[in-house]
Amino acid sequence: MNNVIIFGFKNEKSMLVYKFGGASIKSAEAVRNVSDIIKNHSGKLAVVISAMGKTTDNLERIIESYVNRDAEKLASEMGVLKKYHFDIIEHLFEDKNHPVYADITEQLEELGWILEKEPSLSFDHDYDQIICFGEILSSKIVAHFLKSQHMEAKWIDIRFSIKTNNTYREARINWELTNRLVNEHFTFAKDDILVTQGFMGSTIDNITTTLGREGSDYTGAILSHALGAKKLVIWKDVPGVLNADPKWFDETVLLEELSYRDAIELAYYGASVIHPKTIKPLQNKNIDLHVKSFIHPEAKGTVISNVEYEKLVPSFIFKMDQVLIRISPEDFSFIAEDNLQTIFGILSENRVKINLMQNTALNFTICINNDKRKLPRILEQLSEDFKVIHENNLELITIRYFDESTVERVMKNKELILEHRDKKNIQLLVRDRG
Ligand code: ASP
Ligand code: MG
Repeated sequence: MNNVIIFGFKNEKSMLVYKFGGASIKSAEAVRNVSDIIKNHSGKLAVVISAMGKTTDNLERIIESYVNRDAEKLASEMGVLKKYHFDIIEHLFEDKNHPVYADITEQLEELGWILEKEPSLSFDHDYDQIICFGEILSSKIVAHFLKSQHMEAKWIDIRFSIKTNNTYREARINWELTNRLVNEHFTFAKDDILVTQGFMGSTIDNITTTLGREGSDYTGAILSHALGAKKLVIWKDVPGVLNADPKWFDETVLLEELSYRDAIELAYYGASVIHPKTIKPLQNKNIDLHVKSFIHPEAKGTVISNVEYEKLVPSFIFKMDQVLIRISPEDFSFIAEDNLQTIFGILSENRVKINLMQNTALNFTICINNDKRKLPRILEQLSEDFKVIHENNLELITIRYFDESTVERVMKNKELILEHRDKKNIQLLVRDRG
């Protein structure tokens, strides 16, 4: 029997949504831990699963070798994908006749067929048709494993429920259809566990789309919204939402309570703990978001809800590999509305997110992530109408609820390039002096 300590939400009558990210299911042992966490819940549960470990990166390399027609690299990356998943199932299912083996083999064959076809003219379209296998494989394995642990688990293909437009790799939700279809497909007989995939959806013609990297949190929020869940729990390898990424900071503080607004702001500025789109669907229906540790599931973690407070400890967000682009009219004319329209047109056409912007009469300056595919294209397009200079290798530091001592602390050995402040936030674009 299950001898783990009691935790989670026992005797919860209402419906919950759990989301498990790649790190929580990166090995057979990790999948067992997830299964224990799920077993400890009694009541209706929808479970959203990401791809296992670093599978999405592995699939991105598969896609790259596929479009570059690099057969050797493709074969070796496919080998990595197969071995990784088979190693996990061999450790989870001793019986080699267990249906999981045929199921995973069939999915990998299906992926193989896609890779035998010629790439289409749309990279983004092809990307989505291939990248989705990470979530399909992982959700199948988890669903089979829960069943083997005597849980009433059902596997659901999310693509029949989450409907999107055809902006591949960053698809937009069709809320009306999605709300209806989710409620048609996610029906609970007693205390079932409905296991599904994060990150993906499909068009009304059933062509697979994805919601953007790390999009599984967003899937959790969409399902919670559509089903009117009591709460969404995102299980992570950190204790909850911290005031800084432990990668850059030694002394981090756990934020036990956060308002929706603060959570959105932190995610927007790049706190990687939650996907920025996650909060709105929850806030709209007043659904609490719990961020909890799958290593210490008994610990409280962070609760994001409709709370109010005056102030919070300062939170720090670091974005590396930033590019500053300074745009000015060729003829010394002002940066006026029509110029701005052209600039924003180019940025939005390339789906570039501005992390910081500032303008003077003669300059418009922006800071964006260094996307190797997009940057050369937008620099070229901007240069058709403007004088453009850019600088790479910068860092963007955002502090929410800042004060002067926190600013001093992060500015050590940094040279300030651009600064923006309002009442609660300060953003500092800096060059590292080493
Ligand atoms: N597997 C996808 C990714 O790694 C989605 C997710 O994990 O949220 O980006
Ligand atoms: Mg992930």
